[in-house]
Amino acid sequence: MVTIGVLALQGAVKEHIRMIEVSGACAVEVKRPEQLADVDGLILPGGESTTMRKLIDKYSFFEPLVQFGAAGKPVFGTCAGMILMARELTEQKDGHLGYMDMTVERNAFGRQRESFEADVSVKGIANDVRAVFIRAPLVKRVGDDVEVLAMFNEEMVAVRQGSFLACSFHPELTNDHRLHQFFIDMCKKHDVRAQ
Ligand code: GLN
Repeated sequence: MVTIGVLALQGAVKEHIRMIEVSGACAVEVKRPEQLADVDGLILPGGESTTMRKLIDKYSFFEPLVQFGAAGKPVFGTCAGMILMARELTEQKDGHLGYMDMTVERNAFGRQRESFEADVSVKGIANDVRAVFIRAPLVKRVGDDVEVLAMFNEEMVAVRQGSFLACSFHPELTNDHRLHQFFIDMCKKHDVRAQ
């Protein structure tokens, strides 16, 4: 069985753990960098990206996380997690972990649409994946190697670049675990290749 870690510094950690478990994989809260060695894939949860970045630095996670991604281990970022994965943000040239060749705008829906739910069509999964958007970011630019998996109102909301998967919304706050299942399958495939 594959083991999926959830970076447990801040944000919607428990919800992701529950989604991983109902999807039939083993879930671990990752609180120390050494634990990264024991997981086949990692979820960066939603929450608040600047706070999460401060905690990443405080607990010496930055380099281990960069190395985890560089080793080809799958990473799935949701909402604030997606912000952490971008090479570039509209508000600052240097992103955080810089895993994916994309530019992300934080809080891109504006104040009047702080939070809402919608069904989105996600390529390779289904045309009615339930999504909760909370002060959500949007992908404003992608490089040639980035595949756009979902659009919402003509904006990019789910993307994949090789072993990296990211979405603007919170699949973990719904009962729809198909995106988690998709990520677990990515981890299983990677695991087979690694053997
Ligand atoms: N707006 C938050 C940020 O900038 C992300 C919101 C979320 O994860 N729900 O980090």
